Amino acid sequence: MIIQMGVFSQIADEIKVEAKKQTEYALELCKHLHQNPELSFHEFETAKRMARELNDLGFEVTEKLGGNSVVGVFRNGDGPTVMLRTDMDALPIAEKTGLPFASVKVADLDGDDVAVMHACGHDIHMSTWTGTARSLVALKKEWRGTLMVLAQQAEEYSGGAGEAIEAGLFTKFPTPDYALAFHINPELETGQIGLAGGPVFAGVKTVEITVYGKGGHGAYPQKCIDPIVISSRIVTDLQTIVSRELSPTEPAVVTVGSIHGGTRPNIIPDEVKMQLTLRYFSDKTIEKVIASIKRICKNAALSAGMPADKLPLVDVSLVDTPPVLNDEELSLKLGGFASEIIGAENIISTTPEMVGEDFGKYGLTKEDVPICLMWLGSTSSEEMKRLKAAGKKPYPLHSPMLNPDYKNTIETGIAVMAGNVIGLLKK
Ligand SMILES: [Zn+2]
Ligand SMILES: [Zn+2]
Repeated sequence: MIIQMGVFSQIADEIKVEAKKQTEYALELCKHLHQNPELSFHEFETAKRMARELNDLGFEVTEKLGGNSVVGVFRNGDGPTVMLRTDMDALPIAEKTGLPFASVKVADLDGDDVAVMHACGHDIHMSTWTGTARSLVALKKEWRGTLMVLAQQAEEYSGGAGEAIEAGLFTKFPTPDYALAFHINPELETGQIGLAGGPVFAGVKTVEITVYGKGGHGAYPQKCIDPIVISSRIVTDLQTIVSRELSPTEPAVVTVGSIHGGTRPNIIPDEVKMQLTLRYFSDKTIEKVIASIKRICKNAALSAGMPADKLPLVDVSLVDTPPVLNDEELSLKLGGFASEIIGAENIISTTPEMVGEDFGKYGLTKEDVPICLMWLGSTSSEEMKRLKAAGKKPYPLHSPMLNPDYKNTIETGIAVMAGNVIGLLKK
């Protein structure tokens, strides 16, 4: 990556000192949030706390935007608007870290009691976001413009970003000139950030397929059309979409994650249901993948003798998250600012991941906002060395054992993000 140096080296030290100062506060906040996680769409107390943090700093605060999301606006003279986004939701996972501030929270998920944990680092995102806002208010003489901050609900469900946009995020509030976010990354060390222009997270679509048959007694297959056999063919043929129909240089994933049909050994059922997840980076690819799924389903049923009015039903996109595509120019600029803060050697060029993140939606509205999502290294270098020596890897996101180096992750996050904003808004 080419990095633009020397943009604001004079104030880099001041930013680092401020970030260090704010880390103590942010770390305490993080422990509180970690102990009190809330599931997607249920971030009631978390949202209240985020609003309180912003109120204390003198932001204009709007709560309950499209659900639980919170928006804060801090006007500091004429200049561009930068939006910083954090997510707020936790996951239905029982924590096994044994940390002194481990979560013991249980919540109601569709009538079931489930343990809840911040296993995706959103507690760190919120604390870094708060620490960054505090630093930027303290350093307000160094920049001109508007700081807009968004604490978003339901990232894990992919509902939050879309709902905030629909509720008027870019129309009722200043339209951002840039939108930035962090996601922690246990594969990177604390003190490092991961950065890339272009694709960072894949687009996600969900497909539900209902395969019909003609049910009957398992002893008389000749009188039936077996949807289990048709479905088996479909599952096998779906594997050829990526391997035989797409260019080897075009990444995509087609995974059948669930398949259900039948009740007894001696009954041929009437139908089978399947659920798929698809991952992609370009519209052209996903259109091709969906057309192929439909073709494969239709032809498998026809070849088994199903009539034309009982062909498989292919329902696309119960979940629909576009890819996160970082703006190339903005990423380059941020790489320059970050290198002044943590050194160019700590900016790691990353490759795209096939998991999804709904932050991409902010870059795909008609306002055409340039976005950049950066990875924030969250495993201490000592831990990384220890793991390497033992032939192990850090616990991944969504692991019940996820145990980031909270303090150093937050301190780097605040320093880099405050540096980004000051870099973009410097006088
Ligand atoms: Zn997650
Ligand atoms: Zn996450």
